[in-house]
Amino acid sequence: MTTIQTSNEDLLASLEHDGSKSGDIQERCCLCRVHTPWWHGHGAENVALCPTCALTHTKSDLPTKDEWFAKERALTKSFY
Ligand SMILES: [Zn+2]
Repeated sequence: MTTIQTSNEDLLASLEHDGSKSGDIQERCCLCRVHTPWWHGHGAENVALCPTCALTHTKSDLPTKDEWFAKERALTKSFY
């Protein structure tokens, strides 16, 4: 049986809503790629992060903004 780490309240508490409404185009979570209006961090660490991943990951699991963009570009050729 796998133990899921759920003790990282800091990551969940750090999330900021981008103010979008349902139906608006939203960025994808940097970890699971679900569309989410929630963001973590600022500057080079500013990435979209859904509450589910925030609960089950720690800060060291997150990519930087550059790493996240590079991954999204590779997965979505028409991103830009
Ligand atoms: Zn996620």
